[in-house]
Amino acid sequence: MSSETFYGPDFALLSQQDPDIAAVLLSELTRQQTNLQLIASENFTSRAVLAALGSTLSNKYAEGYPGKRYYGGCEEVDKAEVIAIDRAKSLFGAEHANVQPHSGASANVAIYQAFTKPGDTVLAMSLSHGGHLTHGSPVNFSGKWFNVESYGVRQDNELIDYDELRDIAIRTKPKMICSGATAYPSLIDFAKVRAICDEVGAIMWVDAAHFIGLVAGKAIPSPVPYADVVSFTTHKVLRGPRGGMILAKAEHAAAIDKSVFPGMQGGPIMSAVAGKAIALAECATPAYQKYAKDVIVNAKALAAALEGEGMRAVSGGTQTHLALMDIRSTGVTGKVADERCGLAGIVMNKNSIPYDPEKPGITSGIRVGTPATTTQGMGVTEMKTIASFIARAIKTDDANTLAAIKSEVHALTARFPIYTA
Ligand SMILES: *Cc1c(COP(=O)(O)O)cnc(C)c1O
Repeated sequence: MSSETFYGPDFALLSQQDPDIAAVLLSELTRQQTNLQLIASENFTSRAVLAALGSTLSNKYAEGYPGKRYYGGCEEVDKAEVIAIDRAKSLFGAEHANVQPHSGASANVAIYQAFTKPGDTVLAMSLSHGGHLTHGSPVNFSGKWFNVESYGVRQDNELIDYDELRDIAIRTKPKMICSGATAYPSLIDFAKVRAICDEVGAIMWVDAAHFIGLVAGKAIPSPVPYADVVSFTTHKVLRGPRGGMILAKAEHAAAIDKSVFPGMQGGPIMSAVAGKAIALAECATPAYQKYAKDVIVNAKALAAALEGEGMRAVSGGTQTHLALMDIRSTGVTGKVADERCGLAGIVMNKNSIPYDPEKPGITSGIRVGTPATTTQGMGVTEMKTIASFIARAIKTDDANTLAAIKSEVHALTARFPIYTA
């Protein structure tokens, strides 16, 4: 496949008009193809989704909702949004879906606005134990405008401490309790969280950004039957376009829709809405369900192989698409490991581990995920190879050794081409 073929006939036009940006498109495609993409929140969306993103739907203003727009000429884009909403409701068994949020963070802004007022108390997972910026970070609107209390994981098993969660909920009486994280490798007990929410009269919000694709593929249990509201991104395991989405119980439908528009956003990105519809249909296929299961099988294999290299899997392993590895035994910090792996063509991220003695900019851990490599068709054998690449890269600061690993990485990734079909 030549990159020109991949980007289609309009690429020649772009190359002529703007060679600077055309060159970026080409070299980014090469970067994605030749390196190992282990960032747990990334994936390779389908060519069909990319086609929608590059379409004329991008030109259309469609403030409002299907049938109730503020602009004329929405009859075609309305169809795309109705299809996306219907597919979301059917795939997840949800009573209501809003497909307009531009991103996961935007979806979360809409949820705060729908259920709370500035100054209210919200209870969410501690950032240092895997929570997201929008769960109360002092540099984020959530931490600036709300009183965010946090719960964490137990020190002994690194699993969510539901007793502590309940105690804090009873003491602080939050309006809303958030479950979901960016670096939690285990499953969340949604029934337990629901019971706590009922006990204290809190809205149950699940931020499923990371794992919703596994739910879509029926590989792990769904939060939808339990939660009042579920927010997520569409570009992580779910493998759709960059964007966000909200599912809710029917009783919250009006509040959510009002909060997204006009409460938080202007016009939706209709090319992305069409891309979301395409991805949701892809997620309903047996092929995607197999993919979702394979992502977890691969993550377990990668975590086990890294343990075989002397690292420690936080929470005792993974039940999802990502593993958080405590790498203190290697004598290298997360920051250095991240840099060395980068030089070896392995793209992943440093990550704090629970009760991390290192600062967030340094860390004692790395986070690795399998959504992208699994989309490429890699399996357990490749996960073992990848673990050995990581272990070798972490342990050396020799540029020649890192370059040698990089050429082995290139040989591996060349066998699993992206965007051929
Ligand atoms: C990725 C993520 C988000 C934010 O998504 P963006 O699209 O980057 O804004 C929010 N919450 C959680 C838990 C996430 O993992």
